This record gives sequence, structure tokens and C-alpha cells, in this order.
Amino acid sequence: MTRIPGESLLAAGPSDDGLSGGPTIGVLALQGDVLEHLRLLRAAGARAVAVKRTGELDRLDGLVIPGGESTTIGKLAAMYGLLDPLRQRLREGMPAFGTCAGAILLARRALHADGRPAEQPLLGAMDIVVRRNAFGRQIASFEADLDVQGLTGEPLHAVFIRAPWIEEHGPSVNVLAKVGTPLGDKVVVARQGNLLASAFHPELTDDGRLHALFVDLVREAATV
Ligand code: GLN
Repeated sequence: MTRIPGESLLAAGPSDDGLSGGPTIGVLALQGDVLEHLRLLRAAGARAVAVKRTGELDRLDGLVIPGGESTTIGKLAAMYGLLDPLRQRLREGMPAFGTCAGAILLARRALHADGRPAEQPLLGAMDIVVRRNAFGRQIASFEADLDVQGLTGEPLHAVFIRAPWIEEHGPSVNVLAKVGTPLGDKVVVARQGNLLASAFHPELTDDGRLHALFVDLVREAATV
């Protein structure tokens, strides 16, 4: 069996939480807040597993791609031979939820903050163009309360860390939330069929509503 350097450092515990009825959702464990995503997915009733090998993709009903650095995640995915298998599963309709850098990975095109094209490996599953680091540098990271379409109750408290925004989207993409900026309202949550993208880090709060929305979407996709 091929070993990945440092794989034991990611002690995600048993491969699932023992739930029998829930869908199996992978969290791409190349970089980022893997454990936090696992925790919120499990709280929403999914079997959640950390994945980093191609062979582990087959049994997934859905996938979360965490935040981090999209260039790093893309390079690691290429190194581990994951890019094409991931693209294939996404083409076949596997639901996915990309958060921050994960949303960038899902996009068909990425731009740098100044609008130049960012040449980096992408999965190209969603008809969105994202602008990386769009709100400014690390120091311009912020938190905001968002009204997210499809979530009931109070606004969602969202943590943005060197976040992208969704600059353009195709007709099959639904905008679920925007945030106001001096340059106008910018799209920060979007859905295209079974694909969900958030520009912020929903795993960094205890509010699991976006994860629950994704788990519901995976459940529905698994029963059709
Ligand atoms: N700035 C990162 C990128 O462009 C994303 C930041 C994040 O995931 N928190 O890839």
C-alpha cells in the first residue's frame, strides 16, 4: 500500500462514526480544516471520512473540499493523482461543497485579486469565475452576518479569511448569499445543482446549517 508522508498525523479516528443510515461524505484531506468539517458533517447525520487517495473516492456519496491555499491543494491533488478522478466523479454528478480555497478548486476559472488569470489546477465543475483574495490581504480578513437563501432563522455568521468572491456565474448557478462591499454586493455562496460553494469558512463556527444543507442535498442526490 502506498504511504503518504505524515498521514498518521491526521488522526481522524475510525473511518466513520458508526451511523448506519447517513450518506458517506469525504473531506479532501490534503490541507485545511479537515477535522472541523468532519465534526459538522457528523453532527448533520453523515458518515464523514477523511480522503486523500483515489481509491477512497469510489465509495463517497459527496465530498467537501476545505479551505487552505487553492494552489497548494491543487498541486497536492495533482501529485497524488487525484485531479482526473475527482473531475470524473464530479462530472458524474457527485455532490461537492467547496469552502474558500475549495470553492476556487470547484470553479471553471480563477483570477488573481487584480483580475489577471490565475494559472493553477482547477476541477472546473462549477460554472463560476472566482477572484482570489478579492477582499484584500490577510489583514482584510473579516466576519459578517449573511442572509443565506434556504437557511431559516437568524443570519449566518461567516468567517472570511483571504477569501475569494464569485465574480461571474453562468445561468445554471443560483446565488444563495451576497455580502456588501464598497464595490457593491459580491456573491459569496452559490449553488449549481449538487454543487455548493462558499467563499468563507463555515467549519469555523458552531453553526452547522450550511453543512446540514449539504448533507440534505447529498441524501437527495443519493436517492434519485
Ligand atoms: N486565499 C486562498 C486562495 O486563494 C484561499 C483562502 C482560504 O481558503 N482561507 O487559495
